[in-house]
Amino acid sequence: MGYTFPPAPQPVLETIDSEDLFPVRRVFCVGRNYAAHAREMGKDPDREPPFFFTKPGDAVTQATLIPYPPQTEDLHFEAELVVAIGVEGADIEETNAESHIWGYAVGCDLTRRDLQAEAKKMGRPWDMAKGFDASAVLGPLYPKDAPLVQGAIQLKLNDELRQSGDLSEMIWSVPEVIAYLSRYVTLMPGDLIMTGTPAGVGALGPDDSCTITIDGFAPLTFTMVA
Ligand code: MN
Repeated sequence: MGYTFPPAPQPVLETIDSEDLFPVRRVFCVGRNYAAHAREMGKDPDREPPFFFTKPGDAVTQATLIPYPPQTEDLHFEAELVVAIGVEGADIEETNAESHIWGYAVGCDLTRRDLQAEAKKMGRPWDMAKGFDASAVLGPLYPKDAPLVQGAIQLKLNDELRQSGDLSEMIWSVPEVIAYLSRYVTLMPGDLIMTGTPAGVGALGPDDSCTITIDGFAPLTFTMVA
């Protein structure tokens, strides 16, 4: 027996210091994980446990030219640290979370903010606001060599600084996010977790360029194309 049609290619991420490609499975994203960003979205950051949404694995791209998506007039950038899972686990203890991490990358959670605002107003899912094609723009994966608990995270739009925060400002740390998420799903090798964005999110249009930097990583630069 074969397939009714050829299976889709495996989404992958390039890795630093290796020819090997990281096979992407699922993409989980943390909502409102920096207090100042929660406030700019009109929420009280102190009263919420972490919540999650997802993007399809094949929404991940390492292209430098990103097609401006359809059905939006308010596409937003969100600079984020991305955690790559390398070891399966359910109900992971926070103190053991590091052992499930393969590595980290710089990422951008592209968001159709107008569709998200409409979904929030109507009490509808965020999928079409968050999970569209090429909505997870990522740099190469860095194998982990130490816990990542601090470091500047910044985004420049056309060379203008728009987002500037520090990983230490996350409301829920990387180990806490892994522990919490693994209560809901069994985390699997290939899963990615986008850990939320600092304040300063805003719109980017066709022809705009974004550069995201996180201490210790090469900058991630991409340009939107109409
Ligand atoms: Mn985000």
